[in-house]
Amino acid sequence: MELAIIAGLFGLLIGSFLNVCISRLPRDLAVSVPRSYCPRCGAPIAAYDNIPLISYLLLAGKCRHCRLPISPRYPLVEAATGGLFFAAVWLYGWNWAGLKLCLFSALLVGLMATDIEERILPDEFTKTGAVFGWMLAPVVLLPAALPALLAPSLSPAAWSFLDSLAASVVIPGGLWLLGWTYLKLRGREGLGFGDVKLMMMTGAFLGLQGNLLVLILGSVIGMVAGLGWILARRKDPSTYELPFGLFLGLAALGVAFAGV
Ligand SMILES: [Zn+2]
Repeated sequence: MELAIIAGLFGLLIGSFLNVCISRLPRDLAVSVPRSYCPRCGAPIAAYDNIPLISYLLLAGKCRHCRLPISPRYPLVEAATGGLFFAAVWLYGWNWAGLKLCLFSALLVGLMATDIEERILPDEFTKTGAVFGWMLAPVVLLPAALPALLAPSLSPAAWSFLDSLAASVVIPGGLWLLGWTYLKLRGREGLGFGDVKLMMMTGAFLGLQGNLLVLILGSVIGMVAGLGWILARRKDPSTYELPFGLFLGLAALGVAFAGV
């Protein structure tokens, strides 16, 4: 329990850093310099005004300098990351499996937020995340049913690694082909390449079986939420761009935490 709380507090700090990434990566700005500033008035944010969650509450959601509202995205991302880190260590323990789930959660929170705000899924999260997923696959073993069947003489760590690699190629590859066909038939993009790279990352962390589930679940959630949104807001369905990455991200969190 204590370790899960420590993980949760650490998650709040990571969430605070994610907020910087979410604001800057889609605009191709450096995340390390300059230090945090108000996006509205440009005033630098002092350390005591930059405490996750607490500062937002103390400042009543307004910048100390210009008094304009701070986006609720900041406390939401911090709370979500803290909550997910707590849950990961609570469920899986203070070990490689818990750490992997924390890392995966942080990447997904970052991606879902940039997808909602900018319809962008930054390579820093997708591609770099995929590399971490492949590196962790031999450490935290994936189900790897197919590789074990095809190459029975290999070790479990090797199967897991192959499962991770295969999931990063096969399912995003199919998705890419689908998007490409749609583009050729309809003459406009129906599926962003960012979604393909997102599925490459989720595959690296979840393996074939998990990633297939993410694609199915994400599509179902996306269809239901998308239809509801279009009907409620009376958006033109032919031009409204759904944040598909958000739905894939939610599905990936579900699959990862369920440990399927
Ligand atoms: Zn300000």
